[in-house]
Amino acid sequence: MSQVGAKERQTQNRVVQLFQHQLNYRYLGNWQHRLMSWYRQQLKQEIPRLIAKWEKNIGVTVNEWGVKLMKTKWGTCNIEAKRIWLNLELAKKDQQCLEYVVVHEIVHLLERNHGDRFEALMNKFMPNWKLYKDELNRSPLSSY
Ligand SMILES: [Zn+2]
Repeated sequence: MSQVGAKERQTQNRVVQLFQHQLNYRYLGNWQHRLMSWYRQQLKQEIPRLIAKWEKNIGVTVNEWGVKLMKTKWGTCNIEAKRIWLNLELAKKDQQCLEYVVVHEIVHLLERNHGDRFEALMNKFMPNWKLYKDELNRSPLSSY
């Protein structure tokens, strides 16, 4: 092969590589997007039943709830707005773990801090809560 031919071939290979890279990237992005949508859909099917159940058990009302991807927390609760956010990552976990986070966030409507009173309330409403907490802690939040 001549020098020019070799160089051309090298350039061609590089173009093909770049194209493949872009193609894979786009395909992966699409696939991840679909997977996330599916997870979100799964959670949104399960959460209303859980919230209704625990509003009744705990005796409080949740005004608003949503699902979003969070980097450091499984759930959050805005006490003033009575709004709960649940981490999209919970879709990958056991149903019991999702339920634990729902209970945890709803209990915050009775007790803001994670002190003795909070623990006592969790013990009362969900005696096995520590099992689910440990299970969630064993699998730290991953980023995509
Ligand atoms: Zn909390």
